[in-house]
Amino acid sequence: MVGAGVVGAACAYYATLAGLRVAVVDRGPVAGGTTGAGEGNLLVSDKEPGPELDLALLSTRLWHDLAATLGPAVEYEPKGGLVVAADQPRLDALRTFAAGQTAAGVEAVEVPADALRELEPHLAPGLAGGFHYPQDAQVQPALAAAHLLRAAREAGAELRLGETVRAVRTGPGGEVRGVATDRGELAAPAVVNAAGTWGGELAALAGVALPVLPRRGFVLVTEPLPRIVRHKVYAADYVADVASGSAALQTSAVVEGTPAGPVLIGASRERVGFDRTLSVEVLRRLAAQAARLFPVLADVSVLRAYRGFRPYLPDHLPAIGADPRVPGLHHACGHEGAGIGLAPATGLLISRQLTGKPPGFDLAPFRADRFPGAA
Ligand SMILES: Cc1cc2nc3c(=O)[nH]c(=O)nc-3n(C[C@H](O)[C@H](O)[C@H](O)COP(=O)(O)OP(=O)(O)OC[C@H]3O[C@@H](n4cnc5c(N)ncnc54)[C@H](O)[C@@H]3O)c2cc1C
Repeated sequence: MVGAGVVGAACAYYATLAGLRVAVVDRGPVAGGTTGAGEGNLLVSDKEPGPELDLALLSTRLWHDLAATLGPAVEYEPKGGLVVAADQPRLDALRTFAAGQTAAGVEAVEVPADALRELEPHLAPGLAGGFHYPQDAQVQPALAAAHLLRAAREAGAELRLGETVRAVRTGPGGEVRGVATDRGELAAPAVVNAAGTWGGELAALAGVALPVLPRRGFVLVTEPLPRIVRHKVYAADYVADVASGSAALQTSAVVEGTPAGPVLIGASRERVGFDRTLSVEVLRRLAAQAARLFPVLADVSVLRAYRGFRPYLPDHLPAIGADPRVPGLHHACGHEGAGIGLAPATGLLISRQLTGKPPGFDLAPFRADRFPGAA
């Protein structure tokens, strides 16, 4: 496995449990990539019917089981999501969206305007209504990755941190034989590309194209507060932002409390390469949107903001599974803003492929060679 983010950790966990001998190599620490900058929402509510939603529904079940196995340290909270609509046209659109999701297996319960405050007492007045999504949940991403890797190591996996993969070795038939790192050679009949936003670079080391691009996001962290936000709460406009392929800035706040007290307000989306510059404009927009949802937040201090780079593929779907162009190369990257949520399903499906079991899931939409010019 190349990558000790949450996706590589989940792949290592399931592959080790399936009886494989696994080494996880990362040039940095555990969760030092995008995982350490993610928010930990495990959402079905923001996904339209299709392959990503199917993956999210599988992951939802797996996260529930993993929470029991890994213990309270991963801060799993099955708190549910609440999507609110500011006016009647937005509520109508949300209703149509939720009906499609329900047909695909999502639990979505309409909440009339006058009942919204029973779920969230501090919500702004005057909203048109909303939908409650009981399946939405949350974990602490870095802790989740660390504990998946702890469990994998207890089952025999090797963790090699501070080691950079510099080449993918192949045999005479083009098949994978292992990797070369800055510390030496590592022989393996299969290599899993869990390099997140750098998954395109890793693919290039194996001689194939995979157009993973960074999509920047900022998150605001408030001072610790009593539990004033109970669910994941966001405005219906967020769904359109997530689905947009535009490089331009999009913000629509997702607000959530954490066990430690701070409220997280995320997240923006823009494609500006790996630019780490703090954008006051983005932070201001997120803060204003959060305060519109929860007026009580207007007087709360923001302690810090952080940013990360989501691994974006042009059709918003990750690359998961064996690469038909290079025998032995498997991809598990490009999960954009949903990699924490989708990690367990990805890991399980990769482990089934590695062990020659039928995946029990259609992986065709996730093929790495689906992009123009990649065949
Ligand atoms: C602001 C923000 C908020 C987000 N919120 C959420 C959310 O609420 N819910 C959700 O599900 N997702 C969220 N995401 C997305 C989520 O964080 C990512 O999809 C996920 O973390 C990707 O995990 P990963 O393991 O694929 O990648 P990473 O965590 O980036 O791991 C890849 C690893 O590969 C290593 N690597 C790369 N190249 C090499 C090499 N050549 N040799 C060795 N190691 C290498 C890197 O060091 C890195 O550690 C958010 C992202 C951002 C930026």
